[in-house]
Amino acid sequence: MDGCVTEIQSASGTKIAIDIGENLANKDKKVLPELKVEGLNDGKASFDAVFITHYHGDHIGLYNKVLQGIPIYIGEISKNIYQILQKKLLMAKIVSEKDIEIINKFKTFEIPNKIKINDILITPIEVDHSAFDAHMFLIECDGKKLLHTGDFRTHGQRGKAVIPSIEKYVGNVDCLISEGTTLSRKKEDIITEFDIQKKAEEYFKNNMYNFVLCSSTNIDRIAAIHKAALSAHRLFVCDKYQKDILMYIDKISRSNLYKFKNRVLSYDDNILDLMKEKGFVMLVRPNSISKKVMNKFDKNFNFIYSQWKGYLDKDFKEYEYLQKFVPENYVYLHTSGHADFYSLKKLCEVVKPKIIIPIHTEKPEAFKEMELKDSKIELLEDKQEIII
Ligand SMILES: [Zn+2]
Ligand SMILES: [Zn+2]
Repeated sequence: MDGCVTEIQSASGTKIAIDIGENLANKDKKVLPELKVEGLNDGKASFDAVFITHYHGDHIGLYNKVLQGIPIYIGEISKNIYQILQKKLLMAKIVSEKDIEIINKFKTFEIPNKIKINDILITPIEVDHSAFDAHMFLIECDGKKLLHTGDFRTHGQRGKAVIPSIEKYVGNVDCLISEGTTLSRKKEDIITEFDIQKKAEEYFKNNMYNFVLCSSTNIDRIAAIHKAALSAHRLFVCDKYQKDILMYIDKISRSNLYKFKNRVLSYDDNILDLMKEKGFVMLVRPNSISKKVMNKFDKNFNFIYSQWKGYLDKDFKEYEYLQKFVPENYVYLHTSGHADFYSLKKLCEVVKPKIIIPIHTEKPEAFKEMELKDSKIELLEDKQEIII
């Protein structure tokens, strides 16, 4: 996925960027040149602020390249999760102390409070996505309204709230900048996070020993797996880093779904006998520590692969370490973090945009198949500008 940056400028010259992503896994493994935007991460600073929709690399990855003096805004919970993640990467020497300092200085916003950057008004709206605390942004300036979707879906744990929130806080807009990740895939019924939970529960009831591979920051997936483990009366085990994230989520959330406290064991060799006796669900990641634990069960376990299957494709850079880690007889249990065709169409019908600008998609022209009477689809090239 290519990194996302959207530049928005008012008539009087206030400039903000939505997201500052890096180019992620590339199919032919060629390193794409880093995204350069004059005044944002290149040349002399001319932007007034950057707003980050969520903590996935294709939206935040170039945060440390933003020119000095330009403030970066992100949801408070996102900032805290990103701090935990980056501190782990600091220990592995993948990021530097300087990077951590930049993250510590991120400014935060709270929904649905508006933020004013000169003559541009920004309203964050919470959405459902495979990143926790993800947002859309309503941008108001020069008498116009624009909605930037970031990444979103409606089939996750808080999916039902997405369209009503947009109806409440957004209404009709002049322009919709929308993701369309799933549009290049076949139109098929997407399973929900709840379906994942039910299926996982079955697997956990039928198998004593279960390892699950999923993203450490896909909190809603982990919550589904955790609930399934509890229902199947298995111990729920993970490493210390993952437990830190879950304890933080437990602390800030009031929802029953995210009650992890006293229910999560962090792995240590001395709980091995207990795991063998009671049965368990353990979250793993492709590293030697997880591999060592798996080896103790001598292939006598169920392995669930719960993230995008594309990473297992030979053309992707993740393939090399994943193929050494994921057993041949793995079970695939996953659903997309992105809206399907019908949810995207529903969004368009709700906000009735005069203009739709597709981003984050390999098939932008698929918006035309929605046959929206009142909207014009603008297919923009990289770096192309449009006046609304
Ligand atoms: Zn995302
Ligand atoms: Zn994305």
